[in-house]
Amino acid sequence: MPPRRPTRRYTLTSLLKEARRQHRGWEPAWPKAEPKASYEIVIAGGGGHGLATAYYLAKLHGIRNIAVVEKGWLGGGNAARNTAIIRSDYLRPESMALYRLSHSLFEHLSTELDFNVMYSPRGLVELAYTRQHMELLARTADANTHYGIKSWMIPPDEVRKLLPLLDDGPHKRYPLFGALWQPRGGIARHDAVIWAYARMAAQLGIDIIENCEIERIETIGGRISGVRTSRGTISAGTVLVATAADTPALLASLGINLPIEPVALQAFVSEPLKPALDVVAIAGEVEGYISQSDKGELVIGGATDKAPGYSRRGAFASIEDTAASMLELFPSLSRVRMMRHWAGTVDITPDRSPIIGALGLQGLFVNCGWGTGGFKAIPGSGYGTASLIAGGKAAHVVAPFGLDRFRQGRLIDESAASAVAH
Ligand SMILES: Cc1cc2nc3c(=O)[nH]c(=O)nc-3n(C[C@H](O)[C@H](O)[C@H](O)COP(=O)(O)OP(=O)(O)OC[C@H]3O[C@@H](n4cnc5c(N)ncnc54)[C@H](O)[C@@H]3O)c2cc1C
Repeated sequence: MPPRRPTRRYTLTSLLKEARRQHRGWEPAWPKAEPKASYEIVIAGGGGHGLATAYYLAKLHGIRNIAVVEKGWLGGGNAARNTAIIRSDYLRPESMALYRLSHSLFEHLSTELDFNVMYSPRGLVELAYTRQHMELLARTADANTHYGIKSWMIPPDEVRKLLPLLDDGPHKRYPLFGALWQPRGGIARHDAVIWAYARMAAQLGIDIIENCEIERIETIGGRISGVRTSRGTISAGTVLVATAADTPALLASLGINLPIEPVALQAFVSEPLKPALDVVAIAGEVEGYISQSDKGELVIGGATDKAPGYSRRGAFASIEDTAASMLELFPSLSRVRMMRHWAGTVDITPDRSPIIGALGLQGLFVNCGWGTGGFKAIPGSGYGTASLIAGGKAAHVVAPFGLDRFRQGRLIDESAASAVAH
């Protein structure tokens, strides 16, 4: 392991001095690398999954001759556009194994990466307003218990204690039947996760190259030979494509078709409020979810837009619906002002599970299709994908998610667990 850079200590005086010189003296968290002519591995896409894979390749498998090539800036994709919900209460055995691993890595991520990712396991409730949803959540709770994931059903009385702002009086359109409760579900700061992986990967010797678009993946004689980028050609025997909704376009020139639909997913935050909500609440029936950030802002999101597309603007009807559903549940928020709104383009697969694996051409790997729920999976997916590329033992965690499952009809259907519940 290379020597760790000494962490600079800041005092009030040093911070004031920095402010006086207009913040020009901050130490960069990772150096801006220039592309070299060749690397052992090129990772396309500096989102969470690309960066985490790079980090675990270096940390656990000793492979450091790696470039992470990002067309924009780190976190400019979905990585820092999400609402940062972390949970592992999925339904299928393959997903439970992956998300359970990821959740357990989140528990110690700040220590592992020597950076505060603000992981806050404050608890997460998934509300059920129909008997059918209750039944589905109860099945999830049973499956979770069987696979060692702590989640269980709670009755309406307990939900009311956790969510005093929730209006579920007798006049409500939907009666509350209960909820699935995951006590260690929660949130983390999304961009801190990205910065932490980038900083540590760079300390381990990985080049992080921003503002460099991969235009084409090059092959010679049926195997990967490198990538053509906006800043020249880079040769590499192994390429991992982790470019979210841009992945199908990048792979199409190799004759590889991915079953991925790009669609806008939107979110918005309120003005900061005093602490009023100390769990994450998700309501599938009304298509909305809410949490309160450490700054006090209410972070609100809902379902994807109805029509596919790459626009990051998003349809107004979707945010209107989400706002209406939040008011249905929490009428006392009606006078809270909303401050910011944004969208990301999420990459949805037919079974709402990711695509991870080798792609037939020697040296070519993919990690994409995370749709609305890939933030929580970053540590586990990076860990597993690194092992897959390096031929390690942990590859079994990601092995079920190969592209061939669509040909074989071996779907990992998580549409219920990942529709509104990101
Ligand atoms: C509004 C919203 C809310 C969400 N909420 C949650 C949530 O609460 N919990 C959760 O778990 N998930 C959530 N998600 C989903 C989550 O953000 C994504 O699944 C996850 O970030 C995907 O990570 P990634 O690394 O695959 O993609 P990204 O973070 O998008 O990274 C891909 C990167 O590839 C780069 N790239 C693309 N093309 C090229 C190219 N040709 N060359 C070089 N670089 C390229 C992009 O610029 C981008 O930085 C949400 C998403 C959105 C939009």
